[in-house]
Amino acid sequence: MHELVTLQHGLSESARKPFPHSDGTGPRVYIQTYGCQMNVSDSQTIESMLADSGYRFCGSAEEADVVLINTCMIRETAEVRALGQLANLSALKKGNPSRVIGILGCVAQAKRREILESHPYVDIVVGPDSYRRLPILLEERFISPPGSPGLLETTLLREELYDDILPRHHGGVTAFVTIIRGCDKFCSFCVVPRTRGRERSRPLPSILREVEHLSSKGVRDVMLLGQNVDSYRWEGHDFADCLAAVADLDGISRVRYMTSHPSDISDKLLETMGGHSKICPYLHLPVQAGSNRILREMNRPYTREHYLGIVTRARRLVPGIALSTDVIVGFPSETDAEFEETYSLMNEVRYDTAFMFKYSERPLTKASRIADDVPDAVKVSRLERLIELQQKIARERNELQLGTTTEVLIEGPAPKDKSMWSGRTPDFRPVVFPKQEEQVGDLVRVRLDSLSGFTFHASRLP
Ligand code: SF4
Repeated sequence: MHELVTLQHGLSESARKPFPHSDGTGPRVYIQTYGCQMNVSDSQTIESMLADSGYRFCGSAEEADVVLINTCMIRETAEVRALGQLANLSALKKGNPSRVIGILGCVAQAKRREILESHPYVDIVVGPDSYRRLPILLEERFISPPGSPGLLETTLLREELYDDILPRHHGGVTAFVTIIRGCDKFCSFCVVPRTRGRERSRPLPSILREVEHLSSKGVRDVMLLGQNVDSYRWEGHDFADCLAAVADLDGISRVRYMTSHPSDISDKLLETMGGHSKICPYLHLPVQAGSNRILREMNRPYTREHYLGIVTRARRLVPGIALSTDVIVGFPSETDAEFEETYSLMNEVRYDTAFMFKYSERPLTKASRIADDVPDAVKVSRLERLIELQQKIARERNELQLGTTTEVLIEGPAPKDKSMWSGRTPDFRPVVFPKQEEQVGDLVRVRLDSLSGFTFHASRLP
């Protein structure tokens, strides 16, 4: 015990208390999350585990005893942003050497040794399948002598689903629920299968339990998450069954999901969407490229024609469906003519939203072994052309909605005008309208009157 007290001398009063901090006055934790919704969901799972060990949460790294950075490396910019934040933490560590700095997520998984070698002030590095070990690693770190080497835990576990943990909900009427972890697709540009491991589906009962819990906390709109939700399989149930089972729960007004894969999406899923009023008519279906040769190089095992067939069926089976996509320009060896095929596909589909990126080489991927030979200036000009096209299409698609009536789920007061409610239509368009006696979480019928940028101004219908 004497040794423990000696080693803990630099800690704040709360961090010095014995573990676990069952009185709820444990060390203060700040988690900075980068990247996709999966990371947001993972951070909430981590918060839940740490809260069970008595940790508390605070709003800034400066006031925290433990600073955790949950990183993303799907694109180079995300990785650079996370590593840039890491460099800033060096000053925080100098200000308080007993503060524990932890790096989590995909960058931690892929660059574990590099992080510890080049950032000696980092105390722990933990990958996406090892978050259960966090309370123990933190405890170990708190009692380690100053200057001890950082702790590393990055085992990928085929069975880890965190399905017994209810993520910490931050309030509000919307929530993410992870239903499948990992990915088996191995798209040649993507590092995710290397950082998040093989695909595994969560048991349906545990998904329903979590959604029921969220509903009891006031959540009305649930987004089911997975790198590829269409691969969901559990005891004979596929993703369409899972989606319908969640939508059937009382208390939930809307269900959405992300992300689909064009090779796996089924007509059964589209029919389920079209046949269930609580499943939102919104489909995020990454195309990545419009050229069949580039799709093959990307290890995306579908063709442009197959993809366009899904779009036609989705629009037939799910009336009023909104479509969004991901696109990469400047994949190695992409010619001007092949880029034009992507451009023409976007013109043909007319997406409501698109997330468009320049190709950036990711470590550990198959594509990283071939030359990144499209000059940056060419990538930039292709990207600018696509963005310009997509903005025009999105504006036109929004204008088609003017004068129509729809239902808005109230998410809260409008950030710029507290006399207005802010919410979304079923197909995910942002709307503001004047407040009356409604409450957050209510569904209200409105008419879409005008547009300000991409936000609709609406009037309430009787
Ligand atoms: S489907 Fe492809 S892009 Fe999506 S996570 Fe899996 S490997 Fe990455």
